[in-house]
Amino acid sequence: MNYIIDESLSDSEFTASLNVDGTFGVPRRIESITIHHWGSFGQTHDGVNDFFVNRNANTSAHFVVSDGRINCLVSPLNASWAAGNAYGNATSIHLECRPEATNGDYRTVAWLVKFLRDNYGANLPLKHHREWSATACPGIWDLARVDREARAIGKVPAKPIAAPSAAAVAPVKGQKFVPDNHWRVDKGDTLDQAAKHFGVSVDKLAKYNGIKDANKIKVGERVWPPVGADTWVVEKGDTLSKIVAWYHANGHKALTVQKLQFANGINNPATETKVGLRLQIPK
Ligand SMILES: [Zn+2]
Repeated sequence: MNYIIDESLSDSEFTASLNVDGTFGVPRRIESITIHHWGSFGQTHDGVNDFFVNRNANTSAHFVVSDGRINCLVSPLNASWAAGNAYGNATSIHLECRPEATNGDYRTVAWLVKFLRDNYGANLPLKHHREWSATACPGIWDLARVDREARAIGKVPAKPIAAPSAAAVAPVKGQKFVPDNHWRVDKGDTLDQAAKHFGVSVDKLAKYNGIKDANKIKVGERVWPPVGADTWVVEKGDTLSKIVAWYHANGHKALTVQKLQFANGINNPATETKVGLRLQIPK
């Protein structure tokens, strides 16, 4: 049995990947999956979607899940506001589940856990919300059972999330866009395509992903967008005007050498633009 991940609704309350480090003190990385319940028995799936999407509740979750239904409201590449804890927000994928925890709810949540592990890490541990902050959440949910059921699922489609969700595309610090997801290499894909998709150079992408030869990428390999690309580490041959030209070519037309100097307190670019210097890229 497979499920559709519905991306038609988006929650605007989240921290975009490039801002996670600055906001929570840890870059966005996925280390766990956190199970929540949505509070009281009898609330509907649609009611919970409505709460997240239409109220400025100052809280959010990546997924809303109940028997047969999955909504992705925030891309897992961005941080939702669910943990009540900076590290939990920065490093986990948060699932809002129905508190009744029926057999069908377990089946659907287990399927999503299997899908997320396939995409973000085979052994991602499951966490109760109460491991992040003082709360009764997730109520009666039995995480050992979710884990058992998820591991019993043989195969789920590789790419059920096909379209970028609107919530993932937000202007951040002059970046052209915030990539919604990693790039999973299909037959015939090149790193060049992935670089275009993310709006970064092939070099930067290869370096960030530890790819030694850009011409040798394997089918099934995951290529991640450079998190924290709003800082630029000076390499041999870089000059401020070359860096500015790179940003212009990637859509950040407002950047100038003067702004870059001012933002980084550089008086003399010729002597101060040293290899290894970490430059903040202003808007
Ligand atoms: Zn919770």
